[in-house]
Amino acid sequence: MEHIVIIGNGIAGITAARWIRKLSDHRITVISSESDYFFSRTALMYVYMGHMRWQDILPYDADFYKKNRIELIYNHIQSINFYNKILQATDGASYKYDRLILATGSKSNYFNWEGQELEGVCGLYTKQDLDKIEFLSEGIKSAVIVGGGLIGVELAEMLHSRNIKVVLLARDSAYWSAVLPAEEAALVSRHILEHQIDLRHETGLLKINANENGKVASILTDKGHTIPCEFVGITTGVSPNIDFLRNTPLACDKGILVNNYLETNIPNVYAIGDCVQLREPIKDRKAIEAVWYTGSIMGETLAYTICVEPKPYEQLIWFNSAKFFDIEYQVYGLVPNKIEYPLDTLYWESSSGKKSIRLIFDEDTKIIKGFNLMGFRFRQEVCEQWIRKKTPLENVVANIRLAFFEPEFYSDVAPKLLKIYKLKFGKKTSLRSSGSLNAVLRFFKKN
Ligand SMILES: Cc1cc2nc3c(=O)[nH]c(=O)nc-3n(C[C@H](O)[C@H](O)[C@H](O)COP(=O)(O)OP(=O)(O)OC[C@H]3O[C@@H](n4cnc5c(N)ncnc54)[C@H](O)[C@@H]3O)c2cc1C
Repeated sequence: MEHIVIIGNGIAGITAARWIRKLSDHRITVISSESDYFFSRTALMYVYMGHMRWQDILPYDADFYKKNRIELIYNHIQSINFYNKILQATDGASYKYDRLILATGSKSNYFNWEGQELEGVCGLYTKQDLDKIEFLSEGIKSAVIVGGGLIGVELAEMLHSRNIKVVLLARDSAYWSAVLPAEEAALVSRHILEHQIDLRHETGLLKINANENGKVASILTDKGHTIPCEFVGITTGVSPNIDFLRNTPLACDKGILVNNYLETNIPNVYAIGDCVQLREPIKDRKAIEAVWYTGSIMGETLAYTICVEPKPYEQLIWFNSAKFFDIEYQVYGLVPNKIEYPLDTLYWESSSGKKSIRLIFDEDTKIIKGFNLMGFRFRQEVCEQWIRKKTPLENVVANIRLAFFEPEFYSDVAPKLLKIYKLKFGKKTSLRSSGSLNAVLRFFKKN
């Protein structure tokens, strides 16, 4: 029996712990310094908005850890002696390991702006950030959020829910256009503006000004505008949380470098989740993919490698989802912001400008490559199956009803997609599948 120590009790660390327990009798210790128990980071915003309580976002209760013999330690590791296999904590405690799993997650990016340390400035990543935002936003009337990504919009919605006037600064010419194709970026920009968020494109932060009490009073943008505010939210992306591992024998670049087996350059030391940078990402994919499901898959894969036999980590078909106020966003597969040869696209947008469907395909082979959805939820398994099976676009369009979660939408939308297909290719095709639950089950049976 080995002693496996995991630093980080997020989705990656706890998934690894759960699976190691399922597959072995090893001693498992999880050391983490943000919260006593694993919580759902993606649901932090709902706690602030009063939709959920803190205890509602804890996937497991204390009993679960006890039953599974997963020892939890609330402490912060400040250094690691990889030679002696000893972890040194900030309170003086030290811990020995046989194998070490680094699952230290991400941290918010700050770019050394003048005034970023003032009271009233905060990111949104940790539980402590949430507590701080709760405290700082009490009774305030105005806020500026810097950074127009997914977390920026979440923070805007949170503050808006408490009637705080929000200015959102975004670098891109339309919301998140570094990631979203132009039409979807414009759709989301419009939607954010309709929610009375003062979204300012192509605008960055230059400095944060203090009042006479040393608190945030205003910000200066790189356009030369001063915006008075009582709170500044910093949501300019995240990066691997690995500062304490720099200048050690552990090979790091932007993240901890791992091979396909999630092994670092040091024997018996592994890394999983947001803190990881893959040495060899697959084509069209990133080396750092800081999303929930990758942490979970890495945790499970590594447990198998440690307890059973070496199993390579596979970057599965890309998936992400988020919400822009009440517009749901889902992406499956390959959807770049600029769609250029060898890719091509079919795009439909509702007349209300609040819903859209984009299909990405290979221009030469007409094989489906990706789906980008605004205001709809598609069945993940169906989309993934189409991509995996290299399905021709025509088949996807003809059977599109299979993908819709909400059948009330497809009677209206599916024929419109067909029309766009016909316009583009001058070729008629008809809807083949009914989209009923039975049809979906038949689809899975066949595939
Ligand atoms: C507001 C918000 C919304 C999000 N929404 C989505 C979403 O909708 N969909 C999605 O896919 N992803 C979303 N994400 C991203 C997702 O939450 C992360 O990808 C995921 O939580 C990363 O998990 P992890 O286990 O790698 O790391 P983390 O969850 O960051 O956990 C790592 C833990 O390790 C601890 N730790 C680090 N260093 C040490 C140390 N030296 N000593 C002790 N403890 C340490 C940290 O304090 C932390 O608690 C969101 C993130 C945020 C912040």
